Amino acid sequence: MAKSSVLGYPRIGADREWKKALEAFWAGKIEETELNSKLQEIRLDHLRKQLQKGIDLIPVNDFSYYDHVLDTATMFGIVPKRFPYEGGAVPVSVYYGIARGTKEAAASEMTKWFNTNYHYIVPELDGAAPVITENKPLTAYREAKEKLGIESKPIIIGPLTFLKLSKGYDISETDAWLKRLLPLYVQILQELAQEGVQWVQIDEPILVTKLENADLGRLKTIYETFAVSVPELNIMLQTYFESVENYSDIAALPVQGIGLDFVHGYAGNLQSVKENGFPKDKVLGAGIIDGRGIWKASLQEKLALLEELSEHVVAEKLIVQSSCSLLHVPVTVQNETKLSAELKNALAFADEKLDEIVLLTKAISSGKASVVKELEECELAIQALKQSSERNRTDIQQAVAAVSSKEPKRNLPFAERHIVQQQKWQLPLLPTTTIGSFPQSVEVRKARQLWRKGEWNNERYAGFIRDQIDTWIKLQEEIGLDVLVHGEFERTDMVEFFGEKLAGFAFTQYGWVQSYGSRCVKPPIIYGDVAFEKAMTVEETKYAQSKTKRPVKGMLTGPITIMNWSFVREDITREQIAYQLAYALRQEVEALEDAGIGMIQVDEPAVREGLPLKTEEQAKYLEWAVKAFRMTSCTVQDTTQIHTHMCYCEFHDMIDSIEAMDADVISIETSRSHGELIHSFELNTYKQGIGLGVYDIHSPRVPQIEEMTQMIDRALCVLDPKLFWINPDCGLKTRGVDETVSSLRNMVAATRIAREKY
Ligand code: GLN
Ligand code: ZN
Repeated sequence: MAKSSVLGYPRIGADREWKKALEAFWAGKIEETELNSKLQEIRLDHLRKQLQKGIDLIPVNDFSYYDHVLDTATMFGIVPKRFPYEGGAVPVSVYYGIARGTKEAAASEMTKWFNTNYHYIVPELDGAAPVITENKPLTAYREAKEKLGIESKPIIIGPLTFLKLSKGYDISETDAWLKRLLPLYVQILQELAQEGVQWVQIDEPILVTKLENADLGRLKTIYETFAVSVPELNIMLQTYFESVENYSDIAALPVQGIGLDFVHGYAGNLQSVKENGFPKDKVLGAGIIDGRGIWKASLQEKLALLEELSEHVVAEKLIVQSSCSLLHVPVTVQNETKLSAELKNALAFADEKLDEIVLLTKAISSGKASVVKELEECELAIQALKQSSERNRTDIQQAVAAVSSKEPKRNLPFAERHIVQQQKWQLPLLPTTTIGSFPQSVEVRKARQLWRKGEWNNERYAGFIRDQIDTWIKLQEEIGLDVLVHGEFERTDMVEFFGEKLAGFAFTQYGWVQSYGSRCVKPPIIYGDVAFEKAMTVEETKYAQSKTKRPVKGMLTGPITIMNWSFVREDITREQIAYQLAYALRQEVEALEDAGIGMIQVDEPAVREGLPLKTEEQAKYLEWAVKAFRMTSCTVQDTTQIHTHMCYCEFHDMIDSIEAMDADVISIETSRSHGELIHSFELNTYKQGIGLGVYDIHSPRVPQIEEMTQMIDRALCVLDPKLFWINPDCGLKTRGVDETVSSLRNMVAATRIAREKY
């Protein structure tokens, strides 16, 4: 009989209980013991659910107090030197210090988890030899067994992936680090084996990327060492997010199971299995239910795939599972009361995916006849959505086809635009600005709640927003910023805000997923053809502009970011969706310009998030992503200054694409990647306006003038002062008012110093 499994379950809870507990603890509202008990309750609840649904191999140690990569680092006592730590179990204060920064020490870098919107804390291997501070998988296994009688499957990040995702060491030290880590892994696995653990899932998603021979050698060393040291343990070597690059090498490893992604790596993995067969002595973890998408699977198609795989693997050696951890999808569709039946019926979040997995396991074990009714219902639901009017708007489809058939291009090249823009705007050297949002204080959030509940009418709420704008326009003038923003007080989220106003979007009530730490996002669902209906940002921006003589930058979220931060339909290509969004947003850009707004920022922080993991697919993606950005922004006058903003990731290998976007000014997050980006600009000749963020906004710490002076000087070694802008790393909505004002004052002071020098 085949077995069912998942690769991880969302940790945040159906009502974000997890987030609430973490934040209460950070705010000092609950003690550590209470945090522990609250989190345990959540954790056990999740295990219980999987047990009830009938999952055979339930994962443990997928839960975390913040991030599972950070957990792995602290399990090995890997704590950056700047934090007070003297060995032993890493105290929760240090753990959260690494994640979030403290008054004394900057947080560790945070970066994207492969091509997802999850961000992990980058381990810093800066010296001290690793040790085991606590066998976390074992603790988790014991808890599941003792409390619920579950024979669980502990998860651990594999050594190769862990090393490749860490920083702070030189490539030449990789083997030395592996040598230090490997015995620790062995000890952890031995302790698990002694405890009677049957299966352990070792996550090596790095195997879907291109590996050098040295790494393939390391891979072999690692798994041969495990096979020799813990022969009694079943190791499921788990990959996900794409097809594996080196199938034959991986298939030859002495492990008991190999987990492959047959959703995002469908074609490649299937081909590998078909061409090479699957090793007879191994279990195949068949990741066939999409751990990242929200749509109901076509059970018929999945069953056909399982049957195909069955030609290569006997049922006893088949595990039906999710393609990756369910961390990337919301908890359940069940609590949603506001979606249309047509849409709701076509959705499957984590809990519904558990059902799908169990059902498919049953079908492949007991025959199709056992699930005929379910198969039929499933196909009906999928068809109903496909035929809906929202998915078949020919007016939009034709307009977008016409616009996207032309090459989107601004009237003048940058060098000429720059001259007319400078004449018009008369900005000082090193103009200062911010990225858009100002603190969403308790007051702001409360006002929005009252309005949403209907206790405040539209007028009252709009008045409140105007008051906020007034306050912050005055503050910005007083601080001495050159290009102002209205502050985005009317927006909860930069994607949701636009989605609510465009056609083709739907919103869940509880569809949250973890983005980083306690930060959760509720991605909209693009389920129909996207269309512009009415101006979305003009009113507030125009109002802000009426209050000052300095320019106010209009603020939009770009097409690629909206797409990458939404759950999207799968019946048309992402490229098509991007063009629909671009066409809709272009109408907003034009509306802003018509209303007298002459600087417009189109944020694209998430461009890189959609970058395919396979290098050979990246150029094509970047090409249409850039085109979508240009489609959005190219119809404006020469004097209109188009800004864009990017953050959260590395850009060093996409500077050409950034250039091709042809924005007049780009602001990029840099401070948290500790200036590495600046380095890449040394090799390029980026010749358009650019602001490299001069301070980290993820931390409550107020940056000192001197620190920012250093950032500015470093950047200006490479970049032309005439094209350089000074701004924070990102929007300030998560920050407090006082720290924001102090930080910006220091930023302006640092700018004044720089203006004397350049
Ligand atoms: N304009 C947005 C803000 O300031 C940009 C946010 C982002 O890049 N993530 O909030
Ligand atoms: Zn940003």
